Amino acid sequence: MSVLVVVECADGEVKKSSLEVASYGAQVAAQLGTTATAIAVGEANEANLAKLGEQGIAKVLYDAEPRLKDFVNNAYTKLIATAAEQEQAKVIVLANSNIGAAVGSRLSVRLKASLATNVVELPKTDGGQFVVKRGAFSGKAFSDVVLSGDRKIIAVKKNSTEAQHEAGKTAEVASFSAQLSDADFADAPKQVVMQDQAGGVLLPEAERVVSGGRGMKGPENWNLIEDLAKALGAATACSKPVSDVDWRPHHEHVGQTGITVSPNLYIACGISGAIQHLAGVNSSKVIVVINKDPEAPFFKAADYGIVGDVFDVLPKLTAAVKALN
Ligand code: FAD
Repeated sequence: MSVLVVVECADGEVKKSSLEVASYGAQVAAQLGTTATAIAVGEANEANLAKLGEQGIAKVLYDAEPRLKDFVNNAYTKLIATAAEQEQAKVIVLANSNIGAAVGSRLSVRLKASLATNVVELPKTDGGQFVVKRGAFSGKAFSDVVLSGDRKIIAVKKNSTEAQHEAGKTAEVASFSAQLSDADFADAPKQVVMQDQAGGVLLPEAERVVSGGRGMKGPENWNLIEDLAKALGAATACSKPVSDVDWRPHHEHVGQTGITVSPNLYIACGISGAIQHLAGVNSSKVIVVINKDPEAPFFKAADYGIVGDVFDVLPKLTAAVKALN
C-alpha cells in the first residue's frame, strides 16, 4: 500500500506545481504510515526525478516511451492507472492543472476511486474518515468533503501548500512500462503549436505575470506592460474586455472565461477586479494592484496596492526593477 504522486515534467524539469504535489503526497503518506511513490509524465530527466527525494518521495517510476513527451489523455490515464495498480496505491495525488483535470476524472472511473479537485489542505484522517478541504465558487467558499471507498484521488490547487524541502535527499528512479500500444495514442494531438507569447514566457506556467486592463486605455500603451514584464522575466496577460476589443490576443485573457494563472507574483495594472477576473488569478501567491481609484474592488484581494495612475507608476516601477537586476 502506498501513495502515488503524479509528477508533471516539461523540458526535463519537474514543474513547480508538481514539487508541491510531491511534498503534499509525501505528507499524506506519512499520515497513513506508508511511503510515497511518484509516476513521472512528460519529458523528464532522471537526475531531476531523483531530486524528488528532497520533497519526501521514496521512488519515482519513469516510462521513457517517447510518445509520452506531450500530453495524450488515454495514454497518460493508462500509465498512471497501471502504476497505481502495481503500487497498490490507496491515494493518488495530482496537480489541479489542465492535465490533472483531464486525467483525474478518467482515473476516477477507471480505478473506481473517489475524487476531490481543487484541494487546499492536507486531509484529516481522524476517526477513520478521510476528509479534504476544497475550494468552491471561484475561491469564495470552502467545503469539507468526505472521500469514501478503497481508493481516493486528490487534485491539489497550486500555491495552496508549502513544498517541503530536505536538501540532498534522493529518490530511487525505476524504469517502468505500462505496455502502451498504438491504440493508447489514438487521441494524440497531430501537432502541438505554442502560442506566441510576449517575452517568451508561457502564461499558464508563468511564475510572474504583469496584466493590463481597460485602464491602460489602448494597445499603443502596452509597451509599459511589456517593459515591466521583461524586467521581471514575466508573462503578460489582460482582462477580458481588453482581448474582446483586440487590444491583446485572446490567449492572454485571464479569468473565469479565460486562462487560470497561479504565479508567485501577479501585477494588475488598471484592472477593476471584477469577480470573473479574480476567478482566474486568486490562487496567485502575491497580488499587486495598481489602480487610480482607491475604491477599486481589486484592492480587497491585493497583498500590495498602489493607488496611482498606471502611466506614472509603471515607468517608475520598471526603472526600479531594472536597477535591482
Ligand atoms: P474596467 O472594469 O473598465 O476597469 C478599469 C479599471 O482601470 C478601473 O478600476 C479604473 O479605476 C482603472 N483605471 C482607469 N484608468 C486608470 C489609470 N490611468 N491608472 C490606473 N488605473 C486606471 N473579465 C475578465 O477579466 N476575465 C474573464 O474571464 C471574464 N469573464 C466574464 C464572464 C462573464 C459571464 C461576464 C458577465 C463577465 C466576464 N468578465 C471577465 C468581465 C468582467 O465582469 C469585467 O467587466 C472585466 O473584468 C473588467 O475589465 P477591466 O477591469 O479591464 O475594465
